[in-house]
Amino acid sequence: RIVYVNGSYVPESEAKISVFDRGFLFADGVYEVTAVLSGKLVDFAGHMKRLRRSLSELALPSPGSDEMILAIHRELLSRNGIEEGLVYMQISRGAADRDFAFPPENTEPSLVLFTQAKTLRETPASKTGITVATVPDQRWRRCDIKTVQLLYPSMAKMDAKSRGADDAWMVDGDGFVTEGTSNNAYIVKQDGTVVTRHLSNDILHGITRATVVGLAEQEGRAMEIRPFSVAEAREADEAFVTSASSFVMPVVSIDGTKIGSGSPGPFARRLRERYIAHAEETAL
Ligand code: PMP
Repeated sequence: RIVYVNGSYVPESEAKISVFDRGFLFADGVYEVTAVLSGKLVDFAGHMKRLRRSLSELALPSPGSDEMILAIHRELLSRNGIEEGLVYMQISRGAADRDFAFPPENTEPSLVLFTQAKTLRETPASKTGITVATVPDQRWRRCDIKTVQLLYPSMAKMDAKSRGADDAWMVDGDGFVTEGTSNNAYIVKQDGTVVTRHLSNDILHGITRATVVGLAEQEGRAMEIRPFSVAEAREADEAFVTSASSFVMPVVSIDGTKIGSGSPGPFARRLRERYIAHAEETAL
């Protein structure tokens, strides 16, 4: 596999980053993951917009223009022959002598990209749905910034797996679901209303979420953009999550309680189809 590191395309075994890189020492970096369908990038503009916001919130220097970053994405896809999968991009503050304070001279940011060939459309989980277990949300309070500081979500996922679930739903101090470890969370009430948490510093502002909320509205669905509790989720007709890598993924149980019939709900299945069709049409 060919990866991109600071200006060069190299085999992954030859890629090098300094041990003093602040991404490595302080998780001082941000990232984006963009889906690839039929060799094209899904919602690249949305990912770039969020990347710019993450960079600005952390006063991280920009590694280059949107056009340059798009060109690197495309070059890697072509070099690695990726038709379906993901492009991962990370920008960190670069290498500097270890100090909590940012380096006084702006260091060169590190820019790293790699691809992952992966089936996204026809996955077993999209047919069966996934199960989730709830965990307290113990992340920092700026979950709106897409930083590489992913230890807690990783621990939360391991906790969920040790309890026999596929993923975790994180829950705030008031008993309301914030989001999944790497996805946004939704329920569909018995009257068909779709509920998903409002945007704030408590969740990542999902690129897929923005598209899916628009598609659900086009479907004529009533939407309630507000927090929902674990108790309300257990009573829901359907549940699902969204992310760039899973699109729309049905959730069939929460902490062992079946949601609705215990199989993927009709709305989540239709929304998944509509999302994929929209992603295919608009990918570039
Ligand atoms: N929330 C979290 C915590 C995530 O890590 C992700 C995936 N990056 C999402 C939500 C979904 O965001 P997107 O639709 O942009 O992939």
